[in-house]
Amino acid sequence: MKVIDKPEFEALLDETIASDRRDVVGVQDDGEKYVFDDLRSAADLALEYDVTMLSPKKYLMPQRETILEYRDTDGEFEWRAKAEPDGKVIVGIHPYDLVAIEQLDKIFIDTLRDEPYRQKRENSLLIGANMQDASETAFAASMGTATTDSGYDLMLTDLGETYAVNIGTLEGKEFLNSADVRKATAQEVQEVERIEQEDVPDLFERELDFSPALLPTILEENYDNMEFWEDYSEKCLSCGTCNMVCPTCYCFSVDMIRDLGTNSGRESRRWDGCLLEDFASVAGDENFREEVAERHRHRFMRKGWYIYERYGDIACIGCGRCTSECVADVADPCDVYNKLHQEVQAHAQ
Ligand code: SF4
Ligand code: SF4
Repeated sequence: MKVIDKPEFEALLDETIASDRRDVVGVQDDGEKYVFDDLRSAADLALEYDVTMLSPKKYLMPQRETILEYRDTDGEFEWRAKAEPDGKVIVGIHPYDLVAIEQLDKIFIDTLRDEPYRQKRENSLLIGANMQDASETAFAASMGTATTDSGYDLMLTDLGETYAVNIGTLEGKEFLNSADVRKATAQEVQEVERIEQEDVPDLFERELDFSPALLPTILEENYDNMEFWEDYSEKCLSCGTCNMVCPTCYCFSVDMIRDLGTNSGRESRRWDGCLLEDFASVAGDENFREEVAERHRHRFMRKGWYIYERYGDIACIGCGRCTSECVADVADPCDVYNKLHQEVQAHAQ
């Protein structure tokens, strides 16, 4: 572990911003919410934040992006992958969002080999920040994602006048090369451990009443509990906001766009969400999940069971964004999972 004075860290970031080698983005206070946005000066960073409205996923899998371009010469199509700009330095990522990115890596790099994602991910430098505050809807400590020892190039812990810096990768180490850093003392190492083990878990007001390892079984047992899903989803507006703000949701739709009057066009993708009414619509006027209760059930099953079955991860990292942003107040996974756990216990008696 290394230690860097805060002014030295800010100078390093400012130098990176000025060098134009890579875009630097970081957590900032926009007056209403905390957001990841382009960083013009390291002084604008707000690392004491609780949660950002969108996660840094938006830089690796943007809300809308062109993935392929084509030229049509008399029916002969020539396809070209869209060249990706240089990656970004992303500063201030909370541990739960790093865990979410690790889940996306498993899906988009290890399994699907999705080039637009891979290029952006591998060209990005992820600088994490241990939590100093938490949203009142978050329950990351219950999900085991409030701290992490992987997924970052560098991880900062605020020690007052300095940052303790855990180095996760060679790229992270090289980023620090030009800065004045020193080895952490045994006392500083202990203080970081104390913050992670005592201060961070204390930030959370919400918790699961059971171990998340039980989630797949609890969900499976409640699959046919339509009374629960119908009651819980009654007020849902099918707006899809809970999907859009989620750092682990990765569904997208693809549009083929022909530039009018030309022989060229592009294929672009945009975020999609399983709570939207037409998400499961197919040709022939069929919709596999026509009822809102079915869409609700699908979302929670996917987070806690289907993804686990396929990739070994619980796809809810407990950030609480869906709960905060749902106007109908029916998107809260912590509440849903605790209630389903109670249902299982009630039936067992
Ligand atoms: S649960 Fe809430 S955020 Fe999600 S679709 Fe329904 S109303 Fe929208
Ligand atoms: S389901 Fe909600 S709490 Fe869980 S990761 Fe997604 S946005 Fe965060």
